[in-house]
Amino acid sequence: MSVIINDHEYTLEQASNFLKDTSRTVREEAWKTIQQRRLVDKDTLNLLFDELVVMRNQVALNAGFENYRDYMFQALGRFDYTPKDCYDFHEAIEKEIVPILKEQAENRAHLLGLEVLKPWDQEVSTSGKPALKPFKNGQELIDKSIECFDAIDPKLGQMLAVMKANNLFDVESRKGKAPGGYNYPLAETGAPFIFMNSANSLRDLTTMVHEGGHAVHTFLTANLELNDFKHCPSEVAELASMSMELMSMDHWDVYFDKEEDLIRAKREQLLDVLKTLPWVAVIDQFQHWIYTNPTHNAADREEAFQQIYKRFGAGFSNWEGQEAEFKNIWQKQLHLFEVPFYYIEYAIAQLGAIAIWKNFKEQPEKALQQYLDALALGYTKPMNEIYETAGIKFDFSPKYINELATFVKNELDKLA
Ligand SMILES: [Zn+2]
Repeated sequence: MSVIINDHEYTLEQASNFLKDTSRTVREEAWKTIQQRRLVDKDTLNLLFDELVVMRNQVALNAGFENYRDYMFQALGRFDYTPKDCYDFHEAIEKEIVPILKEQAENRAHLLGLEVLKPWDQEVSTSGKPALKPFKNGQELIDKSIECFDAIDPKLGQMLAVMKANNLFDVESRKGKAPGGYNYPLAETGAPFIFMNSANSLRDLTTMVHEGGHAVHTFLTANLELNDFKHCPSEVAELASMSMELMSMDHWDVYFDKEEDLIRAKREQLLDVLKTLPWVAVIDQFQHWIYTNPTHNAADREEAFQQIYKRFGAGFSNWEGQEAEFKNIWQKQLHLFEVPFYYIEYAIAQLGAIAIWKNFKEQPEKALQQYLDALALGYTKPMNEIYETAGIKFDFSPKYINELATFVKNELDKLA
């Protein structure tokens, strides 16, 4: 899908940059243009999705399962948690995280001088200033990241330095290059390779430290006996990377000359961390609904989505006048079509990363060692044992989530 804005053709990812514009009119027009484009394909995608649900349900029945949800839990190798745990987790997110984000949204409206936040008011910086520039080019991103990792622990800096010396970074965006960003373990040498499309933004800095966390994981598991031991499920793999995003924050001063920019970057990062959780809950709960109600039609599905999305704050926006767009928001989530039930992993790992960061703030050396010990296990142990080795719990209870949410909120308040 692409759209035309000011006589230029943009992909939807490129067009979403206009949502950061300080002019509200520019944001509103861009948002509506993007959503209109999505609505053009709405019916086609609904028909396709109807077919997918029927076929997936049949696969589950053929394999002797009651529904596709139960089938997928087995297929994804989820031995450490159940559908009930997922529901408990959703509920805890609703109770503990949504209120914090509601408060942050009120604060955002106040800072922007708006009565209500519309869906196009969520991405613009409340500072009234242009986007942060943490580095000038790919080379500087690599060098500053080595410096940042070195400040956490010289062992970590050394790992990135080895990668640089061996040409194992391809970070700058250029014409014709495939999109995306990832860490790729090279099976023969055991070294990691980091690929990304940097455009010198804050997002690129977080991508680099995120992929850097995966790279550390690759180094630490390189000598495990079996290849399968080196390939962790996402709940573990993303724990490595998401924890590194947070632990590295204390040394982000290498990317920013001005204290106010550093504070702004940390605030944006922490809000992103919290915002991940309700959206994951929405998508996960929606999938549970879809596959435990396999005979639903497209209208039922839209209704179910709306109810679930509202429970988790509906993007903390006012949708009056945008009802058609609201119902259709789920279609933007590729996972629903392509990798069913793969989504709750992000919230599990995010929660674990917050817990590791909390330990790290209290006892940096001990927490870092536990983190490295957990990573070194690869996938030789069950998930909950890997989490325990990292010094954290594999727990979705409201009490635990409240403890972690309160911690993040206090850290956010310190940056106010
Ligand atoms: Zn990752």
